[in-house]
Amino acid sequence: MTDIKSLYYNELEKFITDNGFPRFRARQISDWLKKGVTSFSEMRNIPEKIIDFLNGSCYISVANIEKKLVSRYDKTVKYLFRLNDGEYVESVVMSYRHGYSICVSTQVGCKMGCTFCATGKSGFSRSLTASEILAQIEAAQRDLSVRISNVVLMGMGEPLDNFDNVVRFLKIVSGEDSLNIGMRHITLSTCGLVPRIYELAEYNFPITLSVSLHAPDNETRSRTMPVNKKYPVEQLIAACRDYFSATGRRVSFEYAMIDGVNDTDECARKLGRLLSGMNCHVNLIPVNSVEGSSYKKSNLERQQAFIRILSKYSVTATVRRTLGSDINASCGQLRRKHSEGGR
Ligand code: SAH
Ligand code: SF4
Repeated sequence: MTDIKSLYYNELEKFITDNGFPRFRARQISDWLKKGVTSFSEMRNIPEKIIDFLNGSCYISVANIEKKLVSRYDKTVKYLFRLNDGEYVESVVMSYRHGYSICVSTQVGCKMGCTFCATGKSGFSRSLTASEILAQIEAAQRDLSVRISNVVLMGMGEPLDNFDNVVRFLKIVSGEDSLNIGMRHITLSTCGLVPRIYELAEYNFPITLSVSLHAPDNETRSRTMPVNKKYPVEQLIAACRDYFSATGRRVSFEYAMIDGVNDTDECARKLGRLLSGMNCHVNLIPVNSVEGSSYKKSNLERQQAFIRILSKYSVTATVRRTLGSDINASCGQLRRKHSEGGR
């Protein structure tokens, strides 16, 4: 079966004409898909013969709302979506003064096993197709009756471990035949798969690359992020420097502050030395504690000390505002609870 919403327009056109139907039908079908129909029978101007053909040869990816949580504090909405094959993924919609932003998943689970992450703890099931990443945005827009203007690939999964589908998603979602969300409004977050960062740079997409650093040296980083044993800090930073020179896009670094693990003054000095002279920004995030882990957030004083020390190295850093704290808005926790039957 062909995953029709993962096709580029020219591929859809070829698919339709190769099967003996007129070219203009591809445009009509594409327009219906753009409107967000979830079945072929809704395509009212398409003859029955073609509808039958589509039903027998293709499917439309959908994200069905299995569960929805709305934060009482800030209207952040968290979804647990059920995909066509019954797998579950999470997305979070945040509203800001300038519009709506969605954090989408790129895989069901994750192979990377970071010790502070709920997704990492629940194992890996499969990667998402381009259309399944897109379906999360469409389902949220429909449910909330809003236009989402910003997308962050920061939900469940490692986007660069699903490279081809993610590239396809980026090209489709930013195009006029789809949601038309410009790449400047898209952020891709990675735990640091170094060869894939070089590969991504070659595409020269105007997206923002966000790198989950979380520690300034190999010893500390390898303790929480197993991926660091394969791609150590020096290699990762070299890839980020290359990414900036190739694309001209400022890289941002995520740094989840964990009490007593990576939040000492010494860590801040090392981080300052590591990033000094680089055109970048550091987002400090007090770690969210997840079930089954003993990690605790760094306190306000530690957060401020970090910013102060980093500024001595001319490295800019801000503490990320926590949204949806009452609904466990960071991804991975809802699916985990759901699959353990602990709703
Ligand atoms: N796999 C990618 C993207 C998904 S994770 C990555 O790791 O970058 C999105 C972000 O959430 C990453 O920066 C990740 O390190 C962070 N994160 C995961 N669990 C967290 C937690 N418990 N507290 C704070 N940040 C967390
Ligand atoms: Fe995977 Fe990212 Fe979680 Fe690490 S932080 S386990 S890479 S989703």
